[in-house]
Amino acid sequence: MGRVNGDRERQSGNRVKVFLRASAAIVALLLAAPLWPDAPPAPIRVLILSGRNNHEWRQTTPALRVMLERSGRFEVRVTEEPAGLTGATLEPYDALLVDYNGPRWGEAAESAFEAAVRSGKGAVFVHAASYAFGELEVLGEHQRRTGRFEPAWPAYARIVGGHWSAAAPRTGHGKRHSFSVRWTDRRHPIAAGLPQSFTTNDELYHNIRLLPGARVLATAFDDPKQNGTGKDEPLLRAVQYGEGRVFHTALGHDIAAMMAPGFVSSLVRGVEWAATGAVAAVTPPQKPAPVRVMVVTGGHGHEPSFYSLFEGRDDIAATVNPHPIAFRGDLRKRYDVIVFYDMLQQLDEAQQKNLRDFAEAGKGLVVLHHALANYNAWAWWTQELVGGSYRLKESKFQHDVEMDVQPVADHPLLRGVGPMRIEDETYKEMWISPGVKVLLKTDHPASDGPVAWISPYANSRVVAIQLGHGRTAHVHPGYRRLVQNAILWSAGRMK
Ligand SMILES: [Zn+2]
Ligand SMILES: [Zn+2]
Repeated sequence: MGRVNGDRERQSGNRVKVFLRASAAIVALLLAAPLWPDAPPAPIRVLILSGRNNHEWRQTTPALRVMLERSGRFEVRVTEEPAGLTGATLEPYDALLVDYNGPRWGEAAESAFEAAVRSGKGAVFVHAASYAFGELEVLGEHQRRTGRFEPAWPAYARIVGGHWSAAAPRTGHGKRHSFSVRWTDRRHPIAAGLPQSFTTNDELYHNIRLLPGARVLATAFDDPKQNGTGKDEPLLRAVQYGEGRVFHTALGHDIAAMMAPGFVSSLVRGVEWAATGAVAAVTPPQKPAPVRVMVVTGGHGHEPSFYSLFEGRDDIAATVNPHPIAFRGDLRKRYDVIVFYDMLQQLDEAQQKNLRDFAEAGKGLVVLHHALANYNAWAWWTQELVGGSYRLKESKFQHDVEMDVQPVADHPLLRGVGPMRIEDETYKEMWISPGVKVLLKTDHPASDGPVAWISPYANSRVVAIQLGHGRTAHVHPGYRRLVQNAILWSAGRMK
């Protein structure tokens, strides 16, 4: 209430779909990786070696970590100081993932790393880690002088299964572009069962010098139009080094490149194979379909942080439908829950009928904040459905109130909500039905007291939440949980 911008949204046709995918790239990556069936095997312990790179390691390392953890198969730690590694610090890990390109680590750490892989730990190298120690420059100088390849740390090149060269044809890449990566060895566990190819947008490394023992798993055609070689370049490979299994991916220039689903699946499978020698069949667990939510807005301004309430969860799939398109047509087949965050006094008869039909069909309804001021003159809405009303003539609001909110019921909807200190808008002198079940209360004098309740409406589950004016509420973990629980509970998904 208050700060009514008066300009009703008339965005017919402007249908905004809010998928329950987080906006941040890393969280999206997270959702791209497959989940594991109910009884996951013991976690595979992975150590990521990072901390220096000629790429954005501060972004890529967390992205790699998240995509591994999201698969449910790995427990991941990160070191930003690989120079401090010893045999003892490497001991707990099943696989070492190198996202590093920088100075040498020194004799002790390098021999600990080499010995760990030789004696059977998995190793995985991403993108620039294939020339981790500036070998192109070192080699260039060396090759000019001697015409021979002799890397600064020869064992590293043998572990990776190849190296860069400054001599013609020089190792490098053409223009970054979209291309298709084709699995050429589909009998290998990393590739087995996957589609023949995947598309990515990345740098396409070319003229890498493979060493004996490198088994090429996938290649991509390096288009001369993109300054490529016109050849199929090996991009993914497996290497045996002593007892250790090694997976190298030339892909992964940045987190945008790491977003490609094909990058995620090849990386996750590559790490699993390097660690265990096998890749368990990746069958996504059977999860129930997400709750289909229609979020109704219009008639009142709000901050964009409101939409974040519906993001980042795979059990809620929300569509924002502003007025006047909100109640067009029969809603019963399309949605499980309606969330009201609009503020309006009139609906035409057809729209009223669609809304009533939805409620009478036993669907979920969640009425947030200024939507409590909806339809003052429509007794079915205020008295029967919501069990409360902000009366435009009598009720009052106050902004920026810092208040204590306490749970006052034992109800699944309050799970994880807890008592909270929150800065939000209060309403006072509302009409609240004596039949409601109050869930949350505040004793702040600017409020009536009840700030969340369940309506006595018998045909469906209706939750009213007075809180939620602005960003301070939208980002409050207690408030977020409350709204998300209200959606799930009203859909019958919480017992
Ligand atoms: Zn408000
Ligand atoms: Zn790069």
